[in-house]
Order: sequence, then C-alpha cells, then structure tokens
Amino acid sequence: MKFLVDSMLGKLSRFLRIFGYDTIYANDLTEIFMTDPVPDEKLIEYAEENDRFIITKDLLLYKTYSEKSLYLHGEGIYNYLQQLKEKLSLNFEFKAEKAKCSICNSKLRKVQDKNEILNLVLQDSFNNQEEFYRCTNLQCNKIFWKGSHIEDIEKRLNKESIIN
Ligand SMILES: [Zn+2]
Repeated sequence: MKFLVDSMLGKLSRFLRIFGYDTIYANDLTEIFMTDPVPDEKLIEYAEENDRFIITKDLLLYKTYSEKSLYLHGEGIYNYLQQLKEKLSLNFEFKAEKAKCSICNSKLRKVQDKNEILNLVLQDSFNNQEEFYRCTNLQCNKIFWKGSHIEDIEKRLNKESIIN
C-alpha cells in the first residue's frame, strides 16, 4: 500500500517512511504542480494516477474521495498511528532494511564499511553505532542509524499498545 499524505501531516509522512511505507507528502508536490497549496482535485488526480491511498485531515477531501482515503480524527502522531493500525492494519515494527528515507522517500542502502561515512556523522554517533544506512537518492544522501530516537518511538508504541 502506497500513500499520499495531506499537508499538515508532515510528521506522519516521516513516521510512515521510517516504518517502510512508500509515502509522498502533499507539500512536496508543490513544485510539480507549481501551486501552493496543491488543490484537492490535483491531489486526487495524483493519487489516482500513482495508485496512492490518501491520508488526510481535510473532511471535504475525504468525502470527495472516500473510497480510497482515510480521514484522521483528533490530534497527535500516536493517535494517528493507532487509527492507521486499526483501519488499515498497518504494522509499525521498525526494520532498518525496510525503512525509507524520512526526507525523500527513497530506498536506503546499508553502509558496508562505516569508515566510508567517518566525517559525515557526529563523532558520538559514529563511535556508538555499528550499522548505518544511507539514502540512495544522490541529491539527498542522508545517513541514518537506529539511534535513541527510534528506540523512544518504539517504547511509546509499546506503551500505547500500537505494537506488541
Ligand atoms: Zn533521502
């Protein structure tokens, strides 16, 4: 299942990518459509053409395209993840091999020799981590590792019974 996540849900877009879901964020389409914000009908057209399921907080957009979209209630990232788990059976178990770049949605590749990125991450991270991943999009190239940030997210998911 591939997603198109509406504006105002930037954090959710990043979370979905981290958990391996192919996710386009509506605000990243402003350049393609040369308009900001991208109007609902353009988003629907894009979702249709690219076979993407829309996640939105815009009730009108949801009502226009309800067969292939989900309307999120309330506020808060963990509340949203809970709804996605219940309604779309999404799974938020973190697997580094599955994760996508949180910035650009590209695939990551494992860094074979960490000396390759010696000067590209902070000394502490370099010393404390063994496994690093790098975005395969050369314009992005961002480096990731499973740090305390991911561990905090996992703890919270456990606490909220979003994963078990
Ligand atoms: Zn990237």
